[in-house]
Amino acid sequence: MSHTEVTRSPQGFHVGAEVFDVLVLAVPASVARKLLTGVLDRDLSGFQEIRATMAIHADPIYMPARRRDWRAFNAVRTGEHCEASIWYGGLRGTDEQIFKSWTTFRDKQPSEVIAAAEYWHPVITPETIRAQKRLEAAQGRDDLWFAGSWTNDVDSQESAVVSAVRIGQRLGGRPEKLAASVGAGISMAFAEALSDDGSLTGRGRPMLRGSVTGLMTTAGGIGHTLPFLISDFRIAMTFAVAVVAVELAAISFIRHRYMDTPLLSAAFQVVLGGVLVFLTGILIGSS
Ligand SMILES: Cc1cc2nc3c(=O)[nH]c(=O)nc-3n(C[C@H](O)[C@H](O)[C@H](O)COP(=O)(O)OP(=O)(O)OC[C@H]3O[C@@H](n4cnc5c(N)ncnc54)[C@H](O)[C@@H]3O)c2cc1C
Repeated sequence: MSHTEVTRSPQGFHVGAEVFDVLVLAVPASVARKLLTGVLDRDLSGFQEIRATMAIHADPIYMPARRRDWRAFNAVRTGEHCEASIWYGGLRGTDEQIFKSWTTFRDKQPSEVIAAAEYWHPVITPETIRAQKRLEAAQGRDDLWFAGSWTNDVDSQESAVVSAVRIGQRLGGRPEKLAASVGAGISMAFAEALSDDGSLTGRGRPMLRGSVTGLMTTAGGIGHTLPFLISDFRIAMTFAVAVVAVELAAISFIRHRYMDTPLLSAAFQVVLGGVLVFLTGILIGSS
């Protein structure tokens, strides 16, 4: 596979014609090293791969001599190497003679080969585990992340998925968003509850008003940050804008219906407040 080299500038990571703030590379370590020539700021040399071969075949060459000893998973040691052969009949509880075998170091190659492939396979050694720990400590530094089974535990689909989920959680589900919403809710609850005891304005008991205001502020905050768990920024932004529009319309309606404010004037006040919050977000977010 050809390599599109990644470069870096103050604007971000350049991949072809595109520029990204954050880069998550989900390619093998050897490919990452090539893609990031001149950008890589951490040591990936602890991750090694070997050229391995694999065959799907009908020849029971790697099965035990006695038929009754056949199992779905069969491992054979050849010198220093141990390779596995998967018997699909055993997996499915049938007699079918189809096998998937690692064949890199075998004394004999199978006949009746249905398909064969060569690929780079990670070699897991104690140094790999140490390298994984070093990488984990540096994950996300300067907005550069690595996903893939080689970054986490042993070589398996689960390791690969877990590595990606962890990065997604750290990038997307940042707890500070929840903390900001809950914090704003508590602050609004106190401000409302302490503003008057209800006898002056007839707006009801302080505890009730404070609780409703606090809960609604928290729900509103969470409502328009949750869409950003969607990976596609444009879709997330569309959802967030829709949620904010519904929130502003609801606040305008409540002010009009229960607080004797003309609808237009309520909408103007609420939208003005919303625009100020939005501009503040842009100013702080782009600083
Ligand atoms: C034959 C075989 C059988 C296996 N059986 C099992 C099993 O039964 N159960 C299990 O849990 N695990 C199994 N594994 C292991 C499992 O498949 C891997 O651990 C897992 O797929 C690794 O996922 P990954 O995302 O880290 O890497 P990969 O799935 O290898 O993904 C890396 C991606 O990077 C892409 N890429 C490479 N170079 C470039 C480039 N220059 N530019 C852009 N993209 C690039 C590749 O096309 C690929 O899509 C098996 C592996 C093999 C090879």
